[in-house]
Amino acid sequence: MVHIRQFTFSPFQENTYVLYSDQKNCWIIDPGCYDPMEKQELKAFIAFEGLTPTRLLNTHCHLDHVFGNAFIHSEYGLSPEYDERDEPTMNMAGVSASMYGIPGFESSPSCELHLSEKDQLDLDGDRFEIRFCPGHAPGHLVFIQHEQKMVIGGDVLFRESIGRTDLPGGDHGTLLNSIREQLFTLDDDYTVYSGHGPQTTIGHEKIHNPFL
Ligand SMILES: [Zn+2]
Repeated sequence: MVHIRQFTFSPFQENTYVLYSDQKNCWIIDPGCYDPMEKQELKAFIAFEGLTPTRLLNTHCHLDHVFGNAFIHSEYGLSPEYDERDEPTMNMAGVSASMYGIPGFESSPSCELHLSEKDQLDLDGDRFEIRFCPGHAPGHLVFIQHEQKMVIGGDVLFRESIGRTDLPGGDHGTLLNSIREQLFTLDDDYTVYSGHGPQTTIGHEKIHNPFL
């Protein structure tokens, strides 16, 4: 059984997820913790639950999703895993930080293991399918756990909205195709845990999303 805990961090209100197993291993997905209090909040949760972080995953590499990569690396010795097609996005993160006037951005450690839709992830026996969903970012991945009907969706699909496509590597038509082909092909009762805002379901978005 996969347990999930959501945190909302930084001025960007980014959702960070900790997924953990009954055996207490955990993955940290899109650590957006930015200020020291947020970093401590994440660390305290992991310690309180007695979790062992085993993977650091990024759905994509926009600034707000990688704020905490350096912290997670220094605390737990994990290197980030993401799609190679998002390396240009990662390379932009430092520039974006200065553009947004955000001081103290710590560069992410480099990726030692690139992920793609050809891979599968396994959290103590619970498998996750990886789907490639470009459009918001060129190398955007989503992680899907079919038995629990759970989608870690990053910034592809939000509750009654979609990811922005005006950043480098973004493309509106590509994003709509990703949502139609990779997400709306799932059953209506899959829950989507998004990179911003509340969770939603595929069925809710099929009816209520004004962009689709
Ligand atoms: Zn993003």
